[in-house]
Amino acid sequence: MSRVLIIGAGGVGNVVAKKCAQLSEIFTHITLASRTLHKCDAIAVEVKENYGVDINTIQVDADHVSELIWVIEHVKPELVINVALPYQDLSIMEACLETNTNYLDTANYEPPDSAHFEYSHQWAYHEKFKEKGLMALLGCGFDPGVTNIFCAYAQKNLFDSIETIDILDCNAGDHGHPFATNFNPEINIREVTQVVRHWRNGDWVETPPILEDDCVHFTFDYPEAGPKESYLLYHEEMESLVRHIKGLKQIRFWMTFSEPYITHLKVLENVGMTRIDEVEYEGHKIVPLRFLKALLPDPGSLAANYTGKTVIGCVLRGEKGGEKQQKYIYNVCDHHEAFTEVQSQAVSYTTGVPAMIGAMLMVRGDWMGEGVFNVEQLDPDPFMDALNIYGLPWQVVDFQGKLP
Ligand code: NDP
Repeated sequence: MSRVLIIGAGGVGNVVAKKCAQLSEIFTHITLASRTLHKCDAIAVEVKENYGVDINTIQVDADHVSELIWVIEHVKPELVINVALPYQDLSIMEACLETNTNYLDTANYEPPDSAHFEYSHQWAYHEKFKEKGLMALLGCGFDPGVTNIFCAYAQKNLFDSIETIDILDCNAGDHGHPFATNFNPEINIREVTQVVRHWRNGDWVETPPILEDDCVHFTFDYPEAGPKESYLLYHEEMESLVRHIKGLKQIRFWMTFSEPYITHLKVLENVGMTRIDEVEYEGHKIVPLRFLKALLPDPGSLAANYTGKTVIGCVLRGEKGGEKQQKYIYNVCDHHEAFTEVQSQAVSYTTGVPAMIGAMLMVRGDWMGEGVFNVEQLDPDPFMDALNIYGLPWQVVDFQGKLP
């Protein structure tokens, strides 16, 4: 028996609520809270229709610690699952500390006024959570999340030492729109317009953003999806993996982008629509990227007509028993199947399912700890088993392909 509070009723919140409701013997009391109450209520109606389970809903502005404390004290959860936006991470962690509640999220904190995301803000809470005997689990989506677990699993079960990791994230889906983002447009565009970094021999190496002509990219032949252009990108899980995978010499992250996506984004950037500072418009101050978000399709709304698959995984090179080896661990997720099951597209699905699994392992006591943790610090085996059971089966194969 456990009580959980899910904060955020967007694409990912919808999946987390439904996957938790599918396991109502574990998640016996589910409350969904978000800024816009009617979005929570709409999900609750579908949960009741699909699974016959009642979930509670409540309005909260998670930017305000005092409001959060009131909601948490009212709901009395043992765990808060934060699937709102990265801007709310610190206020929700503060409220969890005040109310002696465990915490889980899927994306690291970003200050709203600078597109610079790093774990330092949240790692700084380690001692506070530890002193209170509480656990905060960071980055428990797919990437970060499952990709970190794949690396931890490889370190534990497949290799004596891992020299290089390449994380490859492919969305080979088609949503039918000329331009749309698969998760929150503001967070997505801030991420992909940044200077790119990867890690080699103890240092971060910078390369041009994906919109520059001299950015780094190559064609990777993805299982089930085929060859796709994959771009070097900075992604947050690298920051924790360089700490936790012993002996690592290099880690890189690659993501597929289509030509039309890159072209649209170049134009939007060139005309200033991706700016995150305030500009004066007819007597109002507006942030162009937030205005653009209002114009773009809601990522959740893409789900109904989405076809194709996501293929996300890690290629690891290292040694086992004195022999060099290369392994590829990956998952394939189908957009249409995700829609059939929980009325979502695969990007929300691949984030929401791991968040539910992490929550399950925490409330069951399989994953316990005091302080702030990244997922690769916990035992990967029960998580890997659960991925196979709850909708994200994975493969591990010898890797024969080529990487740059
Ligand atoms: P959406 O924009 O679809 O949903 C975000 C939700 O958070 C909305 O319901 C929104 O409410 C709510 N919210 C925003 N601000 C507040 C606030 N101040 N108080 C309360 N609720 C608020 O985003 P997604 O569902 O696509 O993404 C959710 C999270 O998952 C993000 O942090 C994203 O970065 C992360 N993510 C992680 C991935 C991974 O693999 N690790 C992959 C994809 C996403 P409202 O409707 O009022 O705007």
